[in-house]
Amino acid sequence: MTTQRILVVEDEAPIRQMIVFNLSRAGYEVDEVADFLSARTQIADAQPDLVLIDWMLPDSSGLELTRLLRRDKACKDLPIIMLTARAEESDKVMGLEAGADDYITKPFSSKELLARVKAVLRRAAPDEDTPLVAESLKLDPVSHRVVVKDVEINLGPTEFRLLKFLMQSPDRVYSRAQLLDFVWGQNVYVEERTVDVHIRRLRQALEPVSADQYVQTVRGTGYRFSVY
Ligand code: CA
Repeated sequence: MTTQRILVVEDEAPIRQMIVFNLSRAGYEVDEVADFLSARTQIADAQPDLVLIDWMLPDSSGLELTRLLRRDKACKDLPIIMLTARAEESDKVMGLEAGADDYITKPFSSKELLARVKAVLRRAAPDEDTPLVAESLKLDPVSHRVVVKDVEINLGPTEFRLLKFLMQSPDRVYSRAQLLDFVWGQNVYVEERTVDVHIRRLRQALEPVSADQYVQTVRGTGYRFSVY
């Protein structure tokens, strides 16, 4: 499994550093920003697996950021934990209603932080053993088989991983660089053209059963899996 990536959005440096330190030590890949605008850019660029958002930010509120992310099609399922110094129940309700998955009240211990992060990530994680299905195409992660209308498709290991990754987030567009990171791994140095080669092979394998149309090129951006 690839390392999970967490973005910390908090303007108070000592708190942010404490969080980053604890999450990094626990094995997460951690990015940090101090305001609303940088958070938006970073979420689009790095596609974190979870975001910790402080309630009070210098240029807007964490609540507003949470609402905005929930309205964005690409981020609507992104796990969000809100941080706040406000312990009132009404604030907690407001945070959860805005779309946060959980809520941590300051001050908190590193133990509580890690427990909540782990719980939210576990709830959000797709079950690795569940077959992925899109119309007549079925990918079984356990048996490593891809079947379209009862015809088994033979895929190379990279094409299989690529298809599995794309099918896990249908309709979401990934750049070549992102696909290299997620499918090949972050410390592998291969050219972005490599992605095109494997996409082509994947389409060739799916073409005889007319499933190649699901692997779509988004001009100037990258690739996505979609049945539309
Ligand atoms: Ca703050």
